[in-house]
Amino acid sequence: MSKALAREVDKRRTFGIISHPDAGKTTLTEKLLLYGGAIQMAGSVKSRKAARHATSDWMAMEQERGISVTSSVMKFEYKGHEVNLLDTPGHQDFSEDTYRVLTAVDSGLLVIDSAKGVEAQTLKLMDVCRLRNTPIVTFINKLDRDGLDPLDVMADIEEHLKIECAPLTWPIGMGQEFKGTWNIYKNELHLFSAVHEGKTQEGLVFNDVNDPRLEEYLGEYAAQLRDELELLEGAGNPFDKERYLKGEQTPVFFGSAINNFGVQEMLDAFVDLAPAPKSRPTTTREVSPYETDFSGVVFKIQANMDKNHRDRIAFMRICSGKFTRGMKVKHHRLGKDFTIANATIFMAQDRTGVEEAYAGDIIGVHNHGTIKIGDTFTTKEELKFIGIPNFSPEHFRRVQLKDPMKRKQLQKGLEQLAEEGAVQLFRPIANSDYILGAVGILQFDVIVHRLKEEYSVNALYEPCMITTARWISSEDEKVLADFKDYYRSDLAIDAEGCLAYLAPNPWKLESAQERYSKVVFSTTREIR
Ligand code: GDP
Repeated sequence: MSKALAREVDKRRTFGIISHPDAGKTTLTEKLLLYGGAIQMAGSVKSRKAARHATSDWMAMEQERGISVTSSVMKFEYKGHEVNLLDTPGHQDFSEDTYRVLTAVDSGLLVIDSAKGVEAQTLKLMDVCRLRNTPIVTFINKLDRDGLDPLDVMADIEEHLKIECAPLTWPIGMGQEFKGTWNIYKNELHLFSAVHEGKTQEGLVFNDVNDPRLEEYLGEYAAQLRDELELLEGAGNPFDKERYLKGEQTPVFFGSAINNFGVQEMLDAFVDLAPAPKSRPTTTREVSPYETDFSGVVFKIQANMDKNHRDRIAFMRICSGKFTRGMKVKHHRLGKDFTIANATIFMAQDRTGVEEAYAGDIIGVHNHGTIKIGDTFTTKEELKFIGIPNFSPEHFRRVQLKDPMKRKQLQKGLEQLAEEGAVQLFRPIANSDYILGAVGILQFDVIVHRLKEEYSVNALYEPCMITTARWISSEDEKVLADFKDYYRSDLAIDAEGCLAYLAPNPWKLESAQERYSKVVFSTTREIR
């Protein structure tokens, strides 16, 4: 291990934001980029979103996709750290990609709207983080509005997200009466002021919360703050870095993203606490980010929607070693040498001349469909990274072909789109239907559109009686055979030949699980 390599790895923080639409992810992202000096980019995050809101038709969204590639990974420097913020698409873009991005990060930032508490999408995304015990920092947003009692928001997080909360800052008042926050560990008061453009907020330092000067700044809220801090000291959880790193406890910050309040405090703590890239598992061994040989794994494919440029970008997370443009690597699934010449090294600001990347960084590799999700590239050893799986779809549709002569093209198109991760394809054992499974419903429109554009197949989709899917396995072959017999009409084979149970309703799934305790029903499946 070289010292220079270790320094590069240790500087890196690769994370994603976990939030429900409208909690403030875009606003917070802009502020974070501002601190990273990427002001131009900050503007474009907003305009991209505004453009998306203004339109609902798919064609317009498609045109935007070209732009959205650039904001898929936002890299910035902050206080000696190289921060990679991976976008977790929400709203209409919510899809399996959103889940898979979270398997490619080292930590997460949970954003909660203080008036709403834990919401549906947050629950789903946290489930994904729990698969790898991803460490989570929490930012409770919109304190400038009336919201829930902060203790209730934390109780809500603890109950629904099954993670202990340890506040590092504490809000004083809220809404019209929002006075600021108290930094519990530094004994610093940050007075609230709505600063839209400015970057820094200086804290007033008090060595003791009982300092009578607090009354000058906070009036009657000083006494309330003291009471609440006492309560927290007695009944709350002290922050424990080890427990944070294991994903058992989350440090909590309060603020208002739109007013750029509490953001820097959170970011300072974030770069300090959040883990640098860790070892990642392969089918044979763990790969340390400090190993000098290069390795990387693909976690997302984005197709170019521009008809004239039918290429795809494979998003590769570097897992070890150093990447240099033009380097020759092995593409293990195909057993071929591959020169990564035209890679995009993602940057939020225009830093020309960047030719190197390290573990935790993401590069975009242009290709024409040769690369698929889960593919591993290394300079030497044959490896296959695991932990970037397929996720059980939440919506299902049956595909109807308008022209029966195009069955072969349909099959080919669907198989390729499934490989790319755009949709999941299931073929029932009992009939010849094509069942599509997706995490976000817009994916179905995308598929129908792409079938037409790229494969000249006119298809449509219709609802079907499936609500959830589980991949099936069992060590006991006799039990598995019996299960297959019993549930034949609900079984299907996915695009990689794996057996799946497509449940018509949650109760039937439950009863199947009870009846067959020796059968494993999985919500994720490793990509082969
Ligand atoms: P996203 O959907 O999670 O990306 O959320 P946005 O960042 O687009 O924010 C959703 C809405 O909440 C927008 O209208 C924002 O202006 C607003 N918003 C974001 N942060 C704050 C905040 O701190 N206070 C208030 N009052 N509104 C906020």
